[in-house]
Order: sequence, then structure tokens, then C-alpha cells
Amino acid sequence: MLLALILSTMAMVAIVALRYLAISGAFAALTTRVRPGHHAGLGAQIRREIGWSLVSAAIYGIPAGVVAWGWDSLGWTRIYADWNAYPLWYLPLSVFLYLFAHDTWFYWTHRWMHEPRVFRVAHAVHHASRPPTAWAAMSFHPIEALTGAVVIPLLVFLVPIHIAMLGVVLTVMTVMGVTNHMGWEMFPRWLVRSPVGGWIITASHHQLHHERYQCNYGLYFRFWDRLCKTDRGLSKSFQP
Ligand SMILES: [Zn+2]
Ligand SMILES: [Zn+2]
Repeated sequence: MLLALILSTMAMVAIVALRYLAISGAFAALTTRVRPGHHAGLGAQIRREIGWSLVSAAIYGIPAGVVAWGWDSLGWTRIYADWNAYPLWYLPLSVFLYLFAHDTWFYWTHRWMHEPRVFRVAHAVHHASRPPTAWAAMSFHPIEALTGAVVIPLLVFLVPIHIAMLGVVLTVMTVMGVTNHMGWEMFPRWLVRSPVGGWIITASHHQLHHERYQCNYGLYFRFWDRLCKTDRGLSKSFQP
């Protein structure tokens, strides 16, 4: 039993690390094609981004591995595998609930980490990337990584979700984490500038957080930023 727990956590750490390397690597390669020179002179920064991200991968992987083990061997969590366990309309709703809950947690912990004393300890690492690159997706101080690592492992105990929809949530989390930092907008202008785009966060929005610090704190949605009047719109440095 203990061996299975150790193997599960080791496997999850490896999965999170490899997923990071694969997706950040893919978008970093795409960046050198779309924005030649974007990475020029950032070699030392990128090495730091990868180093912090791999430490974060361990911090994210351990609770995920414990929960995966508990799901498999003890029936923990409200993750389900039977497509008929809940109505079909619940599938997209569950994805939205997870993203919204994660976004809410992120917005408020992120604002807290911009308190000057907390910032210096826990969040300066993430903002040391100037400008951030696709490798900065998980470039967090361990304290910040810990605040992010507990969200999904806690949610799976509270909100039912199909295992495939959990896969969708994790994919959105990883892809948006990478692309929001890569230094250019991959979504078309008609979407980013549309009424729907006014509620979702893409690179144009998060870039401005890295330029100005005291605004645009959200993760997936602009709901909290707009409600709390911390939304300053999109970065002017790269217009989609
Ligand atoms: Zn960021
Ligand atoms: Zn920040």
C-alpha cells in the first residue's frame, strides 16, 4: 500500500514535469517561428524559469499523486468514470465549475501575493521573468506553487467530475498557463476583441499584469477583475 502511494506520487510528479516540458517546449518552438528574436538574450532567465517550474512540478505532483492513489485504492474523491452517472449537460457545467472555482482561488491568492511583504517572499520569482516566456508557465516560488497545487486535489472531493472532463480542465490549465506567458496572442483578434473575449483571459490580458503588476490578476476569466475594478484591459505591446 505504501509502495503504491510512493509510486503514484512519483508517477504524477513525472507526468506534471513531462507535460510542462512538452507543452512549454512546443509553444516556445512556435514562438521562435512566429516572433523570431523573442527569446534573444533571455537564456539565463529561461534556465531559471525551467528550474523553478520543475520544482513546482514536484509540488503539484505530490498532492495529485496522493489523491490519484486514494481514488484508485480507497474510492476517494467524486471523480466518476460512468458517462451516465450524471446528465450529459453536467459535463460542460462541471468543467466550468472547476475553472471558475480555480479562477476565484487564484484571483484572491494572487492579489494577496501582491501585498509588498508577501510579494518579496512568494511572488517575486514569477515576476522576475521580464518579459515572461512560454517556459514561465510554472515558474513559481514553492509557496506560490503550493497555493496552486492544492486547488484541483481539493475540488475533486467536493464537485463531481467525469475523469475525461478532469482531463479537459487540466489541459486548459496547462495550455493557458503556457500561452498566456509566451509573449504573443494566438487567438484571433475577432475573438479577443469580442464581447466573449471581454470575459476570458488570454495572453493580451495577462501580459499587462506582467507589465503593470497592480491589475489583471485573474487566471481564466475577467469576472473578478471586472467586479473588483482591477481590470485594465489588454496589453498595448502586442495587439492581436
Ligand atoms: Zn504570470
Ligand atoms: Zn502577479
